[in-house]
Amino acid sequence: DLSARANGTFCGEVGDLARAFNDMALRIEQLICAEKELLANVSHELRTPLARIRVVLETAQEAPARAQELLHEIGRDLAELEELVENVMASARMDVASTEMSSARLPLRLERRDLCAIAHESARRFRRMHPHRQLELESSREPAWVRADATLMRRVFDNILENACKYSDVGSPILMRLHTDAGAVRAEVMDSGIGIDAEDLPLVFNAFFRSDRSRNRETGGAGLGLCLAKRIVDAHGGSIGIDSVPGRGTTVRILLKPTDDVSAFA
Ligand code: ADP
Repeated sequence: DLSARANGTFCGEVGDLARAFNDMALRIEQLICAEKELLANVSHELRTPLARIRVVLETAQEAPARAQELLHEIGRDLAELEELVENVMASARMDVASTEMSSARLPLRLERRDLCAIAHESARRFRRMHPHRQLELESSREPAWVRADATLMRRVFDNILENACKYSDVGSPILMRLHTDAGAVRAEVMDSGIGIDAEDLPLVFNAFFRSDRSRNRETGGAGLGLCLAKRIVDAHGGSIGIDSVPGRGTTVRILLKPTDDVSAFA
């Protein structure tokens, strides 16, 4: 029985034990609730592209002449599914269902990495997936060395770029900028999209949060992307922030500590 509680007034050691037991019971309840919410959000987001793929396949069978165009649509839905699966797997690693911030269930695989190279990989994926979107990349030629888990940092950039794309119009450009200055490696992603209302800004890093503005758009989303990005950046000892003007656009900023300690990674 998960609602079990040590009731009554206890003093001394028994009292301490009773309180510890009650805290633990509450925490388990919270975790189960969060896991259920994760499952509900993810199943919903899985169903939408799967249902579309089924319809498109049926159409292709009836109209083989349109096969090329329909295959392209299936490719887009598969990419959406892949993103979701990647985010769910990373969420399990980063314990997004937990209420304690920046906890990771599994240790990070930290290596000396060039953040510019990771950002470029993410940009290449983005351009492949969204050939009609304009993504400008601004970075110095110098590598930006950080201690990072490259797979997880890729997730951060992929999620932020996907958001910039989902929440802005096809014609508007997206800018990704990287630079290193005294003591910090900075990465910024800017869009000129729908923006975020001031009252929603403090909530965007919460798991499963989606604003009404974004729900009204036809794009999917499980509300995991930014929560995951924050968990990952925090676990790297960095920080992530977001500025937005409704109707004008959004900027996401990431700050990481540079490293030039080559020996530590030998
Ligand atoms: P998802 O995009 O799956 O809904 P995220 O966790 O990535 O989830 O983002 C949470 C919410 O923050 C989004 O639903 C949206 O309301 C808002 N948001 C995030 N990035 C942007 C952006 N670039 N422009 C406008 N709104 C954004």
